[in-house]
Amino acid sequence: MELIILGSGSSVGSPWITNYWGNCDKKNKYNIRTRCSAFIKKGNLSILIDTSPDIKKQILDNQIKNVDYVLYTHEHADQTSGIFELRPFFWKNKKKIQIFAGKKTLNKIKQKHDYCFNGGQGYIPIAQANLIKKNFILKKNSNKIKFTSFDVKHGQISSTAYIFNKTAYISDCNEIYTKDYKKLKGLKYLIIDCLKFNSHPSHFNLETSIMVSENLKPKKTILTNLHTDLDYGFLKKNLPRNIIPAFDGMKLRI
Ligand SMILES: [Zn+2]
Repeated sequence: MELIILGSGSSVGSPWITNYWGNCDKKNKYNIRTRCSAFIKKGNLSILIDTSPDIKKQILDNQIKNVDYVLYTHEHADQTSGIFELRPFFWKNKKKIQIFAGKKTLNKIKQKHDYCFNGGQGYIPIAQANLIKKNFILKKNSNKIKFTSFDVKHGQISSTAYIFNKTAYISDCNEIYTKDYKKLKGLKYLIIDCLKFNSHPSHFNLETSIMVSENLKPKKTILTNLHTDLDYGFLKKNLPRNIIPAFDGMKLRI
């Protein structure tokens, strides 16, 4: 079973559309970051986490041949706006893509991308909406993966954290509620939001994501959602050995 970090950047990615690189060294390819998304593969079972605006490039760059399910963390544009790019998978498989999310997220996605779920103007629906449970299994033939989901705070809204195979994916978060800490003990990988140096009202920053890592003690912590003030080389040099910055295309055997 493998997880690929498809995108490790903040909502603007790096560089920005204005070619602004901030503190990031242009010469280091690990500083080229697309928007947060991830991919899980077990045999022929293919699951996306979020559909970023860069999803087409991410799928092609990583030679991903199929998508059976999409799990959404929350409704923000950098996590959802690439949903319409999935149409060719529906055309290829002649099977609706199964979308999973929490109630509020699902409603927002259905409002914004109604044509994907209900069709219209001569187009047929390509996706089916499903509400996530606290514990659920996604499967294809004999390949199955167990998931646990729970809400974390992401500024004014909630975002969904997913745990599977001793790996937690929490890309957008500024607080994990104390009651959920026990779910995150004994992890092999903690993939966690680390937006900036300075504090932010809806994201962990370098200091707080390190604190979360020290508290939960996973084998490895992987920092994602990295903004342009966090240079890959700087992070690699200055972080403790068990905390590493994500990069686009990073593969983890989970
Ligand atoms: Zn967000």
